[in-house]
Formats: sequence, C-alpha cells, structure tokens
Amino acid sequence: MMSQAASPTRKTSPILMAVVMIALLLALVSIYLGLSEYVLGDSSSASFYMSIGMVTLALSTYMLYQTRRRMIRLLNMEMQPLSSTLECNKCGFKNIREFKRGDFVFKETDETCPKDKQKMIISAIFREVKDKEKAKEIGY
Ligand SMILES: [Zn+2]
Repeated sequence: MMSQAASPTRKTSPILMAVVMIALLLALVSIYLGLSEYVLGDSSSASFYMSIGMVTLALSTYMLYQTRRRMIRLLNMEMQPLSSTLECNKCGFKNIREFKRGDFVFKETDETCPKDKQKMIISAIFREVKDKEKAKEIGY
C-alpha cells in the first residue's frame, strides 16, 4: 500500500502524455499534408499546413520537455535514501539506521538492544524527504 499523497500527479501524467502524442501526430500529419501540397504545386496551402505543423510540433515538444522535467523531479524524490526504524520488543527502545537490502517490517535484525541485549525488530521503513518533517512512511 502506497501513500495517497503522490497519486494526483501520477494520474494526470498519462493523460498529458496522450495529449502530447496526439498533438505530435497532428503535427506530423500537417507537415505531411504541407509537403504533399508543395509537391502538387500549391505553395499557399503548403505553407499553411507547414506552419500549423511546426507550431503544433513546437508546442508538443515544449509540453514533453515540461513533463520530463516533472518526471525527473519526481524521480529525484524517489531517490532519497530509505531508513529503517529498529525497535526492541521488550523495552521499546528505538533506533533509526540506513535501510539495508532485505529489510522488511517485522524482520528480526542482527542488531541488539543496548539496554537488554534483545534482538531488535524493524518496526518501520520510511523514505527521508528533503524536508525532514515530511518524511512519510511507506508500506513494505
Ligand atoms: Zn530493549
């Protein structure tokens, strides 16, 4: 189960991509029509189609670029390191350390509680976001 916080941007993305793809297709069709009009000798409608094609192409490229930038920002956020919270079942002592490969919630770790030498259990795995207060827990 993922947190719902990121879902709105994820939902708009495919729609935007579809719009950009349609725009790109229209641009290509316009350019193609322009070229065929040019071949047929009708230069005025050729330049009309060509200019529509070029503007659409420019717009969709710009939109693609914007989407890409947002995707990169999203990816950067995903690249933030994971942390694991270790908890002692006996006394409740908590310790946070870097996420290690194979960590999962409720896993018994090799680390022991400094107070009573009990093996510590992973109680949470979370991602540290730049803004530390926003560190959200993710389900694993
Ligand atoms: Zn303990």
